[in-house]
Parts: sequence; C-alpha cells; structure tokens
Amino acid sequence: MAQIFCIANQKGGVGKTTTSVNLAAALSRIGQRVLLVDLDPQGNATMGSGVDKHTLEASIYQVLIGQSELGQALQRNTKAGYDIIGANRELAGAEVELVDLAQRERRLKSALATVQTNYDFILIDSPPALGLLTLNGLCAAHGVIVPMQCEYFALEGLSDLVNTIKQVHANLNRDLRIIGLLRVMFDPRITLQQQVSEQIKAHFGDKVFNAVIPRNVRLAEAPSYGLPGVVFDPGSRGAKAFIEFAQEMVDRLAVAA
Ligand code: ADP
Ligand code: MG
Repeated sequence: MAQIFCIANQKGGVGKTTTSVNLAAALSRIGQRVLLVDLDPQGNATMGSGVDKHTLEASIYQVLIGQSELGQALQRNTKAGYDIIGANRELAGAEVELVDLAQRERRLKSALATVQTNYDFILIDSPPALGLLTLNGLCAAHGVIVPMQCEYFALEGLSDLVNTIKQVHANLNRDLRIIGLLRVMFDPRITLQQQVSEQIKAHFGDKVFNAVIPRNVRLAEAPSYGLPGVVFDPGSRGAKAFIEFAQEMVDRLAVAA
C-alpha cells in the first residue's frame, strides 16, 4: 500500500518540482515502485519526466473533474523508472470547476485509492499556491515534504503553509503530518545560508531531513533533456544528494511503521 506524499510550499521557484522528479527517480533507483502526480498547471514535473504536456491524451485535470479514469492518464517513464500522471494549462481551470463538484477537496484522494496498492510511494508535485489543487494534494497525502531554501525570509513564509496543514489535519485529513523540511539549493560557502540552516534546525528539530540538496547546475540542466537530474547525471553531487534523501525517506518510514 503506497504512502502518499505531497511536496508543497506556497512559494514558487523553491525547488518543489526538482524535488518531486528527483525523489521519484531516486526512489525508483533504490527499488521502490513510484507514481508521480503533477498537480501544477505549469506541467514542469511532466516535462521534466520526459512527457510532452502539450500532447497528453488524458491528464490529472480530466481525472479530477471526473472525465477520465486515473489509469487512462497514467504513463510509464521508462528511463527514470516511475509512472507519471501529467498536467498542463488545462488544470488551471480546475481551481474554479472543482468548487461546484461534490467532495471537491477529496477528488484526488478517491482517484489515487484505485492504484494505491500498485506502488510503494505516490508523490504529488503541487502548485505555488494554497488553493483547491494543493488542498486536494494535502487531503490525499499521509505527509508533506517541504523543500526550502536557506534564505532570510524562509521561515516567515512557512507559517502560512504550516497553518494550512494544521487546518487540513483538523478538518479534512487526520493522517496528514509534516514528514520533513528539505534544505535545497544549498551553498555552504554562503554564511547566511549556514546561519538560516542552523535556525531551521533549532526551530524544527528532527523534522529537518539530514540530507541536504546542494545547488548543482546538473539538476538545473536536466529538465531540458526531459530527465530528472538523478538519471541525467547520476554521478553529480545533486543526484547523489537525492539518492541519500530517498534512502532517508525509506529509513524514516521503516522506523515509523
Ligand atoms: P518550484 O517547483 O518550487 O517552482 P523548481 O524545482 O522548478 O521550483 O526550481 C526552480 C528553479 O531552480 C528551476 O530552474 C530549477 O532547475 C532550479 N533548481 C532547483 N533546485 C536546484 C538545485 N538544487 N541546484 C540548482 N538549481 C536548482
Ligand atoms: Mg514547480
């Protein structure tokens, strides 16, 4: 039975998609069965997994509004080893269209229930907003992974997300918890980043993953080849860090089980 994780942070450009595709690829490499769901209308996780968002026969949009079965939207990413459900601009309409549908926050959860036994991990890449799409991600998930950059305002931006997670936990999804904060795009040469990293550890304790994802150009280059960095250049520092992170996820879940 898959554990479902939503990769969320309401800020854009903080590394959600990079974390999603590389964690999916890294978990696959260490033998886990993984499904990645792109829940962002930008479709970056889709393209970054080598699936053309412009030519999707069915996407997560059709699944959410009930026009398509989940299985019809599912594609196999043979190079990276995980399955993916793609998204494109159409999905932006779902923020509005879902409002009038029954069980509007739980539609992703219901759809995923049909395939949950086929995977060890289901990862959800969410958009940079706390709207109905992200809410569907949070309602479907057992836990949230929060990628964050060690910058001055990093902690301040987190409070909205933490409050939303608390509300979802209280009202919609008792399973939901923060699995951990992942420090990404880290540059140890920058003193401020080291300081903020220490602050984050002081504040969140063991909720901070031990693995740290360095700023690494290979991770940034990989999407233009339609590959996660872990597949594009497995020897790169970025790829190795994601493999370490994937192992840490597996270990943490084994301890929690
Ligand atoms: P989000 O999904 O939160 O908007 P992305 O994962 O798309 O963020 O990352 C934003 C930009 O930063 C992208 O251009 C991505 O390639 C780049 N990036 C993300 N993580 C790293 C990293 N560890 N090293 C270098 N570049 C990165
Ligand atoms: Mg993104």
